[in-house]
Amino acid sequence: MRRCCEILTELEEDVKKLNEKIEAFKLEMGCGEPVEPPEPVEPPLNETKIGIVVGHNSGDQGADNIYGESEFEFHSRTMPIVREKLLERGYDAEVFYRPSGVSYDDQCEQIANDMDAANIKIAYCIHFNSYDGSTNGIENLVMNNCTVKSTTMAKQLADELHSVYGYNLRGEDGAKTISRSDNGAGMLISIQNKGIDCTLVEHCFGDAPTSRRTFDDENVFTAAVANGMIRGT
Ligand SMILES: [Zn+2]
Repeated sequence: MRRCCEILTELEEDVKKLNEKIEAFKLEMGCGEPVEPPEPVEPPLNETKIGIVVGHNSGDQGADNIYGESEFEFHSRTMPIVREKLLERGYDAEVFYRPSGVSYDDQCEQIANDMDAANIKIAYCIHFNSYDGSTNGIENLVMNNCTVKSTTMAKQLADELHSVYGYNLRGEDGAKTISRSDNGAGMLISIQNKGIDCTLVEHCFGDAPTSRRTFDDENVFTAAVANGMIRGT
């Protein structure tokens, strides 16, 4: 009977040969030592450029929320933050402000032209509602002749806000269809005439105490809006 250490030496030889074979095979197949990973590159921006229109303007600021801040003030501060969040996630976006001191029709025309020039593909006009202090809910408006995509955008943003805040969905799953004579129709018509899908967002009733959480944590609000917009792309 051979001595134990002899057998061990033989086995070790076998292992060595096998390891050499493995290394040779790795080289042949190009799976040897890993090479250094390349520097990360900036991801290309998504081609769906998002336009955000702050509702109202500096001269006519819209309704006030429970803290006495106007739609225009609140959204002038929060929408650039939404834009930053979109950019961080690889989506190009731009915030638009309506001019004051000109007619509503002129405001609509200017916004539509600016969006067209900026190559915007989908647009959100941002507002909050106001009624009797006790009504709340999400109501994103779309034109009765809008694209399917516009309705999807309205519903996706409503669904995201609903999942964060639990506010009820008004209209059909948070999307409410309007006609030419309704408030906000002029802006939607002007924008969609440029071939841009759009919805007018009423993300809550700002005068209702039940909407307080929207205004108490702007980080949550801006993250929810950015998420909802991305879901609509
Ligand atoms: Zn408004």
